[in-house]
Amino acid sequence: MEHKRIYLCLAHMSDAGIEQKYIKEAFDTNWVVPLGPNVNGFEKDLENFCNGIVETRHGTSLQQTEPLQKRVVALCSGTAAVHLSLIACGVCPGDEVIVQSFTFCASSHPITYLGATPIFVDSEKDSWNIDPDLMEEAIKDRIAKTGKKPKAIVPVALYGMPYDIERIMEIANRYEIPVIEDAAEGFGSRWKGQVLGTFGEYGVQSFNGNKMITTSGGGALVCPDEQAWKKIMWLATQAREAYPYYQHEAIGYNYRMSNICAGIGRGQMTVLNDHIAHHKHVQQYYEKAFADIPGITVHGNPDDRYDSNFWLCTIELDEQLKVKGQELAYGTAVQGAVGGAAGVVHGGGSLHTDCEPNANVEAMRVWLDQRGIEARPLWKPMHKQPVYKNAPAYVNGVSESLFKVGMCLPSGPMVTDEDLAYIVESIKEAIL
Ligand SMILES: *Cc1c(COP(=O)(O)O)cnc(C)c1O
Repeated sequence: MEHKRIYLCLAHMSDAGIEQKYIKEAFDTNWVVPLGPNVNGFEKDLENFCNGIVETRHGTSLQQTEPLQKRVVALCSGTAAVHLSLIACGVCPGDEVIVQSFTFCASSHPITYLGATPIFVDSEKDSWNIDPDLMEEAIKDRIAKTGKKPKAIVPVALYGMPYDIERIMEIANRYEIPVIEDAAEGFGSRWKGQVLGTFGEYGVQSFNGNKMITTSGGGALVCPDEQAWKKIMWLATQAREAYPYYQHEAIGYNYRMSNICAGIGRGQMTVLNDHIAHHKHVQQYYEKAFADIPGITVHGNPDDRYDSNFWLCTIELDEQLKVKGQELAYGTAVQGAVGGAAGVVHGGGSLHTDCEPNANVEAMRVWLDQRGIEARPLWKPMHKQPVYKNAPAYVNGVSESLFKVGMCLPSGPMVTDEDLAYIVESIKEAIL
């Protein structure tokens, strides 16, 4: 069957080509470096957005009653933002950091870059994000076992869904542990109207090619105040001391965003609200279309405190649901984007692991793939990743169960209503 391929979430530039205007400006003025007017401008745009001042086509609207005063540093990736925020929270070799297990590896890998240990905490059923009760249990148990408090807590807005930030902050404040919000997938998601990433000490954003908006690759760190902002800026630019020559008294990083990428970001900020609206529209479409298909559940906002950007729309397939070809699932090794990159396939050796999506989920993924539709299993919990087999984990079974039954469907701004009808039809056809 011939059909244009439909991807999970592809980059989408503004119709007016504003990104190219900013890039051209950078070339024309010779600002082709990791600093410059676009970087400053993009940081201002991000600050305005986070602080509740939203530039839209319809003008500026002040959404907050008490405007926040967050400062933002634009960085070369979201992973770099996680890394720098951990350093700013004083994470050192031998320390422990609490992190949501149900996440992409970029939430936890920087903990290990620092020689610290991630302490994985499982999710609650409603939001799929860190379970506050289990989180407190983990804090108590780590203090009992090591005599030390974890240095930071990293909740993650998985697929854009907010975490219960009120309970998380209440517990974190009680134990005086800083919270680093990993809102990389949740740019523009809100909790009771306030943008994610602005509740904790630090907030991580990502502008990778597949995220809510893109700078090709990039990220940002939302900082609590001027002082923290200065420290992050200093760390992100090789920690140079104030001398006429290079003087180094601490180890820094080359993490600041390039002026070219920031030009894309400035253009993308003009379509951010449109992107969010489109993702929400796609979510509504799926919710309606699957409402009376037994065996398929769409993951939605648990209640109206949660306002997900629905970066990726996700469904659960009932274990009992029979899908065409499921007896052949896991027959061959995967060659695509998840199992490798840049044509390099890093062979795992065997076709199965001890924790994998059910056969009907894998069969559905293959069925859709053959029809030109990209679908993907949910992220495999970090506490089940071999690379983290020695990391302590506080689990309740939620993320493992979800991983077995869940999948991500195309959700990005390039997905049309016609595509959605085709996706839903294809899923119905696959069900026996
Ligand atoms: C994408 C992502 C990041 C940051 O990733 P970069 O690709 O480095 O920008 C961090 N955490 C989560 C959960 C992510 O999905």
